[in-house]
Amino acid sequence: MKEDTQATMKLPISLDLPKEELEELVDKAKDWALMNGMCLRSKKNFDRDVLQFAPFTLFPSPFPREEFHNACNIQIILNVLIHRVAHDYDFLKDTLQETVKVDDFTKNLFNIYEIIRKEGTAQKISLGMLRSDLMLDTSCPKKDTKRLKSHCCWKQVEINTIASGFGWLGPASTQLHKFVLQELGYTAELKNLPENNALQALCSGLTEAWNLYGDSQAVILFVIEDITYNICDQRFHEYEIRKQNPNIKVIRRNLTQLAATARLGSNMELMVNNYVVAVVYYRCGYEPGQYHTQKEWDARLLIERSLAIKCPSIQYHLAGTKKVQQTLAKPGMVARFLKDEKTAAKVKEVFTGLYPLDFDKYGDAAVEMGISNPQRFVLKPQREGGCNNLYGTDIKDFLESVKSKETRVAWILMDRIYPPVHRNYVVKYGNGYMNLETKELVSELGIFGVIIGDDKNIILNKQAGHMLRTKLSTDNEGGVASGLGACDSPFLI
Ligand code: ADP
Ligand code: MG
Ligand code: MG
Repeated sequence: MKEDTQATMKLPISLDLPKEELEELVDKAKDWALMNGMCLRSKKNFDRDVLQFAPFTLFPSPFPREEFHNACNIQIILNVLIHRVAHDYDFLKDTLQETVKVDDFTKNLFNIYEIIRKEGTAQKISLGMLRSDLMLDTSCPKKDTKRLKSHCCWKQVEINTIASGFGWLGPASTQLHKFVLQELGYTAELKNLPENNALQALCSGLTEAWNLYGDSQAVILFVIEDITYNICDQRFHEYEIRKQNPNIKVIRRNLTQLAATARLGSNMELMVNNYVVAVVYYRCGYEPGQYHTQKEWDARLLIERSLAIKCPSIQYHLAGTKKVQQTLAKPGMVARFLKDEKTAAKVKEVFTGLYPLDFDKYGDAAVEMGISNPQRFVLKPQREGGCNNLYGTDIKDFLESVKSKETRVAWILMDRIYPPVHRNYVVKYGNGYMNLETKELVSELGIFGVIIGDDKNIILNKQAGHMLRTKLSTDNEGGVASGLGACDSPFLI
């Protein structure tokens, strides 16, 4: 581990509460979460009719103000970058050509992309609901005196272009923490919790795309998993859509159901049962296990061929791959998409070191680097949804085993970010009052963005709120749905 791993951040309020007061506060917070829909379905004891509160931190977590605003401000530029990447066929083809040879999942996505390109597309407009995830990095140069306060700057972990979740759980966490601070009398501190309009802003992307489609009878289709655990996050989008436009109906189908029922109308409309679909919003389809057979892939292709506006369209999905992220970090690549030098430089600054494992001398060097110093890196395949990466000695073992195999090119190596540690209580279902002590934690901030446009124009581009996830500083990954992470919100310091 790096020597400065232990850099810390502190909330300017005391977390030390007498035992009884703490237990009462935890009860109140749990009930607030339950009664306001900050919940999940249980994976362990699944019952579709039962909700449990999502794991959460009792207090908001400290986050440097300047870094927070900087991350929000850059989002509209990242939106444009991804939009342009998604519309650059040559770039996507060059970038992914070696990957698709060894990674079947990416190959299947790319095949759909090629088919659509050859046929020409019925719908040129795409809807992007993106989430750029970042961590503060304790090893940044400490040249900026303003940043000295926090001893860190932030670095991008990844950018998600499909099923970017927590548009509801993010703002719900801010509301929960406002309630907790008020309970303790910290009303003056409420201004340190930045406003979070993620749900409204993301749904305005969906309703705006529906408007552009221009059929008052058409519906929005949510493409869902076979079992939705993160159900509140999805349903609150549905309710918000109705709030924004009472005429819009949402239907939910998994890929298997769509394989059986979806068809194309005479004008390439996407028909599902008797509904015409204006907008398709994928909350699924980002991992191989969600396509049980070729039929599900056929359904994805059919949707892609249709006139419906897709979130994401296939090229947006491909633009979100780790391989694209790694390629964008190469010298001159951002400049290909962002002509303004200063803008391109700003974006480059948030990238951390990313290395290909291609079958050439650079790839060989990266393999050696990973083997000799695995703690410095994270090793990533072309997958989404968490728990796919390798860390520490697993990196060394894996790289040694694939050193001379073609399959290594499906992975990328990334500098590991070591965020500053802070302390908080983590409240989880089933823990009772046990473990009610503060733990050493680290956080990952997600900034949402919405972009609508086609190959020529951008019709809408905005930053759309945020979410914060927090995990034990000793854990490698921290997905809330996977049970490792907790919902959190930033307290600007
Ligand atoms: P996914 O698309 O599956 O979410 P990520 O790239 O976000 O993949 O990785 C999953 C998790 O792994 C992140 O949420 C973060 O906790 C951890 N992680 C990923 N990259 C890094 C990194 N460079 N440094 C530290 N932790 C990382
Ligand atoms: Mg991801
Ligand atoms: Mg991620």
